[in-house]
Amino acid sequence: MLHPLIADPHATRHVLKKFKLRAVKGLGQNFLINADIVRRIVDAAEISAGDEVLEIGPGIGTLTQGLLEAGAHVTAVELDKKLPAVLRETLAGYKNFRLVEGDILKVDVAALMPKPFKVAANLPYYITTQILLTLLEKKLPLTKIVTMIQREVADRMTASPGSKIYGALSIAVQLRSEPRIAFDVPPESFLPPPEVTSAVVVCDVRRPPFELVDEDFFVKVVRAAFSQRRKTLLNSLASAGFEREKILASDIDCTRRAETLSLSEFARLANFLHACR
Ligand code: SAM
Repeated sequence: MLHPLIADPHATRHVLKKFKLRAVKGLGQNFLINADIVRRIVDAAEISAGDEVLEIGPGIGTLTQGLLEAGAHVTAVELDKKLPAVLRETLAGYKNFRLVEGDILKVDVAALMPKPFKVAANLPYYITTQILLTLLEKKLPLTKIVTMIQREVADRMTASPGSKIYGALSIAVQLRSEPRIAFDVPPESFLPPPEVTSAVVVCDVRRPPFELVDEDFFVKVVRAAFSQRRKTLLNSLASAGFEREKILASDIDCTRRAETLSLSEFARLANFLHACR
């Protein structure tokens, strides 16, 4: 069966008109209309025939079609109740497509995706970081995440120690993956165009590169350290309730600011403070 291409401005307008739909701003709906970008996302995801892929927010099926054409088995979670009827038509005939109606932050991803899988998505921007952190923290059999997000968030995810934008998000993402920015995407590639430049980020998911005695405690230390960026580690941790003597007893120089600590230094500090409790 030959399928018409959805990633095209005329085809997208036609589908929206036919189903009497408008992009809903509150659901972060900016539909991709550029076939080249779809191809580059699919390439970045290194899809092989039979790969299990979770897509978040298939919309009218634009990226989904690219993934299916590459041979992926796609499970897509969509919140907008008006879109299943559209997807049934735009993706009619594709066998390896499964639609789950619901909120990605509420569905049981572990039950849906029991085998190793990749995530590919043009994410709704109002919940980008929540979605990424939830996926990374759940310890799923997830191998790769390829997502379109705001360039500004992509920069924070990939920031290195010493940079002004290095913070709790950089650490949370880099703890469980190796993220890199694959390419930028201009607003004209979407209908309607978003107000910001977008970027496609690839995260190769892996286990934390060092031992963490207690991951939740590590997250608490990182959050506390960055809660007052301009203060020294000693002062920000002490204001968050950690004891000064214990902070001073660690082998990390606590006159430094949080933004100068590498991931492994944070791990050392958190493991030490945990042992002192
Ligand atoms: N994948 C399509 C594309 O590339 O054209 C649409 C991407 S659009 C930026 C984001 C999609 O996520 C929309 O279809 C929107 O309805 C859906 N969405 C928004 N919030 C969601 C949520 N909490 N769970 C699942 N899907 C959601």
